[in-house]
Amino acid sequence: MEIFHIGAECYPVAKVGGLADVIGALPKYQNNTENTVRVVIPCYETTFRFQNDFECVHWGKLKLGTFNFPFSVLKEKTNKLGFELYLIEIPELFNRPDIYNYRDDIERFVAFQIASLDWIIGRNSIPDIIHCHDHHTGLIPFMSKYCPKYVKLKNVPTVITIHNSLYQGVFTFNKLYYLPEFDLIHIKELEWGNCINSLATAIKCADEVTTVSPTYLNEINYSGNGLETLYQRVRNKSKGILNGIDLDIWNPENDSMIAANYSIATFSEGKQQNKKKLCLQFGMNPTKPLFSFIGRLYNEKGADLLPKVVTSAFTTFKEEINILILGYGETEIENKLTQLLSTHKGNYNIYIGYDEELAHRTYASSDFILIPSRMEPCGLNQMYALRYGTIPIVRRTGGLKDTIIDFEDDGNGICHDQASVEDVCDSIERAVDLYKDKEQIDKLRIKGMNTNHSWKNVSQEYLELYNLITTKKYESQ
Ligand code: ADP
Repeated sequence: MEIFHIGAECYPVAKVGGLADVIGALPKYQNNTENTVRVVIPCYETTFRFQNDFECVHWGKLKLGTFNFPFSVLKEKTNKLGFELYLIEIPELFNRPDIYNYRDDIERFVAFQIASLDWIIGRNSIPDIIHCHDHHTGLIPFMSKYCPKYVKLKNVPTVITIHNSLYQGVFTFNKLYYLPEFDLIHIKELEWGNCINSLATAIKCADEVTTVSPTYLNEINYSGNGLETLYQRVRNKSKGILNGIDLDIWNPENDSMIAANYSIATFSEGKQQNKKKLCLQFGMNPTKPLFSFIGRLYNEKGADLLPKVVTSAFTTFKEEINILILGYGETEIENKLTQLLSTHKGNYNIYIGYDEELAHRTYASSDFILIPSRMEPCGLNQMYALRYGTIPIVRRTGGLKDTIIDFEDDGNGICHDQASVEDVCDSIERAVDLYKDKEQIDKLRIKGMNTNHSWKNVSQEYLELYNLITTKKYESQ
């Protein structure tokens, strides 16, 4: 099979969150003697772009309504990521340091999708599967099906994977002219809430809809950011497939980013060595339990609860615990968390920003990782934590519910139900008790480290899905 994964991020080329980890790993596990896997993302100004060798395999001019943008397709020469990586270079729109949050994001990603398809139809072969990820590629299933320009792709099965239903790529019909010509009889496929909604379009037009965990699929049927009825309508072509993690990258035994490597046999000393170094950097005492948070500082992540959680936890435990926060996002949350520095110096610290290495070091050093999310389509942090012998403290939602069970129910972590300061603090209290019971906490750490969340099985599940929709499509023609 020739499989195209098209998305906005890919680790280690360009990463904001879990989307990058998935697009950087799943294709690697699918690429084998039977399948050729190609990953297509925009060409941003990231260090990977400048530190690696690329060859230009295509250049052209894309039409975005009345605008014309020159673009080229750059292929990474060595396939060092384990698959063929292609960057769509549209200098005017993507030669910028950040991935998102520009005023012309709609123009950027519609242009990216058009350029991707322009290039794909110009190649000698037709893909067997086009796998789209999130709303940034949501118009592809529509355009490949209904735009005469892309008629060659009309019968190519498409999959949309929803990594986060909150972001939908919505824009007004004033910009309809951005899309290549199509028969207006199909215009309803683009519409949701009187606007063009990229994610809704993909959900309607793709042959299969997948979410990144089974529980998230159930949840969005009644809490789906305005798309509930649509999710209900497409239930018979939807599947929840839990993400895996890349065991090559997330492995405490050979992770070059952490201070000391360790295995199941040596985790006790190994984690302590890591913790010592991290605590030294952040002015904390490594003999105390370390609670960490790693993630985007937004309400959806429950990050708005953190300032009160920190205050309340230190009121209860005084100087008995350490808390470290690594993230960036809402200015208000960043400010509140920063203000707490002066009050809890020596036990609390925060790094505002994005730092991949620090994230690895934090997973390796922490005793507990806080994941109080309001919603979590899959969540990778809890799986990384398990792998590094760190106990996840999670709210039971989405993929967190599918991966973490409370230790009192013979599980692998600490769970609560409400996204509230009280529930998170209650879990911290239970964690402090657990920390005092070395035998029990060590048992839990070993259990976590033994969990296998490899992409190997998951990638097989996707391949079976591709086969199924290909057969269905063939039979219906
Ligand atoms: P998201 O909703 O952000 O995609 P996930 O749990 O799926 O959440 O994935 C988050 C990924 O981003 C993990 O690899 C995590 O380690 C990483 N991450 C999040 N915030 C930061 C940060 N500030 N610095 C480094 N890595 C981060």
